Amino acid sequence: MFRAQVVFFMTAMLASAAEFSGDAAFAQTKKAVKFGPRPSGSPEIAKLQAYILAQLKTCKCEVSEDNFMARTPRGQVAMKNIIAKFPGKSGKAIAVTGHYDTKLFPGRKFVGASDGASSTGLLLELTHALAGEARTDDVYVIFFDGEEAVGEWSFADKLYGSRHLATTWRENGMLAKLKALINVDMIGDKQLNIKREENSRRALVDLVWKVAADLGFRANFVQESINIDDDHMPFVEMGAPAIDLIDFDYAPWHEDSDTLDKLSAQSLGIVGRVVHESVRRLEKQ
Ligand SMILES: [Zn+2]
Repeated sequence: MFRAQVVFFMTAMLASAAEFSGDAAFAQTKKAVKFGPRPSGSPEIAKLQAYILAQLKTCKCEVSEDNFMARTPRGQVAMKNIIAKFPGKSGKAIAVTGHYDTKLFPGRKFVGASDGASSTGLLLELTHALAGEARTDDVYVIFFDGEEAVGEWSFADKLYGSRHLATTWRENGMLAKLKALINVDMIGDKQLNIKREENSRRALVDLVWKVAADLGFRANFVQESINIDDDHMPFVEMGAPAIDLIDFDYAPWHEDSDTLDKLSAQSLGIVGRVVHESVRRLEKQ
């Protein structure tokens, strides 16, 4: 009887602190890829949205949809950011973000395994890992629509979802509560190689790189730097502390060969564990 109770207690402890699973993140990435090309406004992205929302039903979090119309070179496109909130009590907030759309390439079969699906898979598994934990800060997991340009990447044609949310958060005061925003993009590459992104808040880069070193992933979080315009930038430009984690050394970038076989569960697991632990350390600050 006593032994059974101990086993039950330990099982309950484990259940409440689920470690981020690279295998589970990979399985979610695979699901996203299976929907095919998923550009903003397409029937395929609508199916993925429904899938994400269904998955979030079990996350023990507050889910909201941030719907808006984006003015693009191809006219008005309906877009949707999906927001999962894990409430804390400090009045401060941490956000982990990434995009779930894929770039529109008419007539091609671009499924964006790393560019679009890997961030989706990581975020879905992160909601699972966060679900059993007590929170200090509000932790948001945010799926951005419309990261990709509809035509050529330009000031007005890019980052639709993050620009929309950053503006909303500036207006409603949320931005002032933000301790950190960690954006992930293209983090599935088998040869995982993440560089220090130069527009990112320096203190956040140092914190994430310290976590990576502590967890034994110094080889994947390297010391070279890179300059990337990504979903963190609308927040950076408004003065918020934000960081972009991206592996841009990826030969199939924006090619139809950006397929699942270039990815590994291990890479997703490394980034997921680093992000999860970074959130926990940020909450202690
Ligand atoms: Zn892209």
